[in-house]
Amino acid sequence: MDEFNFIKAIKPKYYKHSSVVKGIGDDGAIIQPNYSQQLVIATDTMVENIHFSLEYMSFEDVGYRVLAANLSDLAAMGSQPLYYIVNISSSNQVSNQELVRIMNGMKELADSYKMDLIGGDTTSSNQLVVTVTVFGQVDQNKKRLRSVAKPGDSVFVTGYLGESGYGFKLLQLGDYQHHNHFIKQHIRPRPRLDFVNTTATIDRICLNDVSDGLSSELNEIADASNVSMLINWEDIPVHPDMTYLEGFELEKLLLSTGEDFQLVGTCSQNDLKQIQINCQHAGIKVSKIGKVLDNNHDPTVYINKNGTKSRLDSQGYQHGKCKGD
Ligand code: ADP
Ligand code: MG
Repeated sequence: MDEFNFIKAIKPKYYKHSSVVKGIGDDGAIIQPNYSQQLVIATDTMVENIHFSLEYMSFEDVGYRVLAANLSDLAAMGSQPLYYIVNISSSNQVSNQELVRIMNGMKELADSYKMDLIGGDTTSSNQLVVTVTVFGQVDQNKKRLRSVAKPGDSVFVTGYLGESGYGFKLLQLGDYQHHNHFIKQHIRPRPRLDFVNTTATIDRICLNDVSDGLSSELNEIADASNVSMLINWEDIPVHPDMTYLEGFELEKLLLSTGEDFQLVGTCSQNDLKQIQINCQHAGIKVSKIGKVLDNNHDPTVYINKNGTKSRLDSQGYQHGKCKGD
């Protein structure tokens, strides 16, 4: 691999943000911060054969997918994307041209959000590993923390859950039709940055992205906010083409498989009405799936299914019937 030519090939000709004082080409990037905004920083890594396989993903897909996972974190913080940094480790079996294809897949998504590539690192290793770090900005009064859920809030999710997991199942069955809706949701998920602008007028939203599965994200919110929650199984949105699935499999897809990169959160009941109106205009589905409870001595997520209330742990397992219910 010729690092010099690789960097030459990916170096942007110009930067979209005037805040980039120095981009690629020196020992470090220089940014002139916007003092009225706070900086949000997130990072995510994808490792070949653990997080993706080149059997069903192109090099462009790999690049797209790792940046999408990062952008989902920026969306979950309520921030606007600005810049990204890319660290690639690969064996010499991966050509320069293939590395450029990874960067092109990323660029496609980055350009749609006017993001600037401002640096990175390129190293050799046995396995293909791609790490992206993203930088975004947020108005300090509009950041969407996990720790701000309040008793009486409604719990909501965007879109449908389990679509990416179902797409992965189709891929494992040897269905490589990349135009299939679910396979697309797995390989090229669209981060929910559209939700950020659409809900910018709302003061308080507690938010998390569904990267590790709904149960896990709900438990993170409950712990961070020190509240309990009650979710209604029947209210969890399922894509019509997935309703035929067996109970156990559907449960696993909706509760434990992540990577849908939808958003889950809580807000006041009144604000949810406003969010749903705004989001309907923007074509974003927002469903109420439960509520935040009053008791907060032991943060717990409960799920109500067929009239039975049980505890939902972060792995998606439902523990028996609850005492006194
Ligand atoms: P240094 O040796 O000073 O760390 P490098 O030679 O590794 O710098 O990189 C030269 C320039 O290219 C730097 O600006 C660095 O940020 C950038 N760069 C290196 N690899 C990548 C990459 N994979 N993606 C984006 N920028 C990169
Ligand atoms: Mg240097």
